[in-house]
Amino acid sequence: MKAKLIDGKAIAAAVRADLAAEVETLKAGGTEPGLAVILVGEDPASQVYVRNKTRACAEVGIHAEEFRLPADTTEDELLALVAELNARTDIDGILCQLPLPKPLDDAAVIAAIDPAKDVDAFSAVNVGHIMIGDYTFLPCTPAGVMEMLHRSGVEVSGKRCVVIGRSNIVGKPMAMLLLHENGTVTVCHSRTENLAAVCREADILVAAVGRAKFVTADMVKEGAVVIDVGMNRDESGKLCGDVDFDAVAEIASQITPVPGGVGPMTIAMLLKNTVTAAKRRAK
Ligand code: NAP
Repeated sequence: MKAKLIDGKAIAAAVRADLAAEVETLKAGGTEPGLAVILVGEDPASQVYVRNKTRACAEVGIHAEEFRLPADTTEDELLALVAELNARTDIDGILCQLPLPKPLDDAAVIAAIDPAKDVDAFSAVNVGHIMIGDYTFLPCTPAGVMEMLHRSGVEVSGKRCVVIGRSNIVGKPMAMLLLHENGTVTVCHSRTENLAAVCREADILVAAVGRAKFVTADMVKEGAVVIDVGMNRDESGKLCGDVDFDAVAEIASQITPVPGGVGPMTIAMLLKNTVTAAKRRAK
């Protein structure tokens, strides 16, 4: 393999170590960071995500409290819990694992979370802050990607950046963070014409599509940095990203693997946002 591997697992561990030291200082001053994690229903993937998040909290010393609600929970019941958590002074961050089971409305819950405790940075208020570049909470997945670029010595300023995907949680905020660092950013989606040609212009290519092996070697410029946000299953049920890793790794200069790339970084950034919220409380 020609490309250098950007090891998300190792970078996330380094971020967690920094956060653990910050948490210790906060606790010494009488503030224990607290994260409330709400899980509605029994979706197996959501259960794994929640378990990973609470485990990571424990590792850095954040108090994580899980609220597991049955799939038939009503919107009123869920919003009452959010209101209760908004009011609790020992809870700095509130995370509701999405997507919610039908007929619950993701948007209603996001809107109900106090923006000061919205550690996923999904609320309209926090999205607005990200847009104008004045933010407290970074959107976790794109922030994780930026942290990987920084810690891998990748300069964004002046570079051609192509993001494939325009979702509210990944593609759009990703483009915005790259723009804030003076990248020249193009956002692609399912209606983009000549996608491969656009991608081949990228010095930094971020794939957030949700399709296994979607980014093939002919879509990548020699020496590009390739970031794979995708989390998919291949034909044999194995976890894989959006990038045809083996072929693209022969062309790229740096590349993230799946698993062990963006995934661990997303969780590390969630912890970072929770610590940021706790620091504000401590002040
Ligand atoms: P999403 O909401 O489904 O968005 C996918 C995007 O890809 C859409 O903007 C869509 O375009 C675009 N797309 C689909 N087919 C395309 C095509 N043929 N050509 C070009 N663009 C195409 O997904 P998401 O929530 O952003 O997530 C993307 C992937 O990242 C998923 O695999 C998800 O599991 C993963 N993910 C990983 C993490 C992590 O921590 N590693 C976190 C979040 C998400 P349109 O808008 O035109 O439909």
